[in-house]
Amino acid sequence: MVDNRCRTWMKLVYRYRVKSLTGLLNKQARTINFVWNYCNDRQKDALRFGRRWHTGFDLIKLTTGCSKELGLHSGTVNDVCQQYARSRFQARRPYLRYRGRKSLGWVPLKGRELKREGNAFRFAGNTFRVFYSRPLPEGKITDGTNFSRDRRGNWFLNIVLEVPAAPARLPVRGVGIDLGLKDLATLSDGSRIAATHIYRASEAALAVAQRARKKKRVAALHAQIANRRRHYLHTCTSAIVGAFDYIVVGNINASALAKTSMAKSVYDVGWSSFRAQLAYKAVKHGAWFEEVNEGFTTQICSNCGAVPDSRPKGIADLGIREWRCCDCGAVHDRDLNAALNILRRGRATLAVGILDL
Ligand SMILES: [Zn+2]
Repeated sequence: MVDNRCRTWMKLVYRYRVKSLTGLLNKQARTINFVWNYCNDRQKDALRFGRRWHTGFDLIKLTTGCSKELGLHSGTVNDVCQQYARSRFQARRPYLRYRGRKSLGWVPLKGRELKREGNAFRFAGNTFRVFYSRPLPEGKITDGTNFSRDRRGNWFLNIVLEVPAAPARLPVRGVGIDLGLKDLATLSDGSRIAATHIYRASEAALAVAQRARKKKRVAALHAQIANRRRHYLHTCTSAIVGAFDYIVVGNINASALAKTSMAKSVYDVGWSSFRAQLAYKAVKHGAWFEEVNEGFTTQICSNCGAVPDSRPKGIADLGIREWRCCDCGAVHDRDLNAALNILRRGRATLAVGILDL
């Protein structure tokens, strides 16, 4: 029953650290700031004189012919103009902030301008060598590809690649996932993924560096924390997508919980990255991914489906880890019960999805 009609294309980003010509990239990033600020000035002019606001296309026309003098590729200049218009529209602001020395470096390029050259890449007459940390699969390099610099001054090449999504697997092995604070996630098969609280572990070292005003050390620690967290999440999500064909996650809202006293824990665990990674890895490997409303999943008994009086209620009973259903007598672990309910909700919608095919 593997259905080929489900076969779609998806975009993946492959990121490589650049090891050559970073000086050139720094120079280009400064020139790009100049182009960006020029766009901002034109927008401010339009505001001042009550003229029509510039679209990306208008800005491209205004900057035509400047690329050679600035030492940039014309596609790059066009991309900056278009991105300026898009960012301004998305931010719903009349104009944007100027880019300056503190802005993170960014050099966009047209996907078709980047060519593979062994383990290196060729763009605008230059060969950029990279740390080829993973092979880049065959596929079309599309727009959105760019060079970017992080806070530590390292340059990365982000390649947006269009690859065919894997054919959909038969939804046999399913899992419901309850996201939480004590454990990052509880799976309906009973396993748990511990929240690492990496930030808390590094807090002391970070505080020492901050008091000593060691800017580079602080930046390095922040980068280290982010890398560790990302690595941990990737390991977990890859394992889940490998082990299950359909994955159901509750739509728990981090921003609502972040306003309570648990704020630091909420920002630390990274539910949104966890869900985003599951979603794209599921598509990549042909698994099903679903987000369901998780309202009352902690209160319904997963055994008999009732909402018994003995259930844990709301925030007040957040500390209750185990409870007994007074209707059927089943003893529940709070998070596991929620995960089972989430899986059941997913199954209901999944059945509808299969009938639609
Ligand atoms: Zn029950």
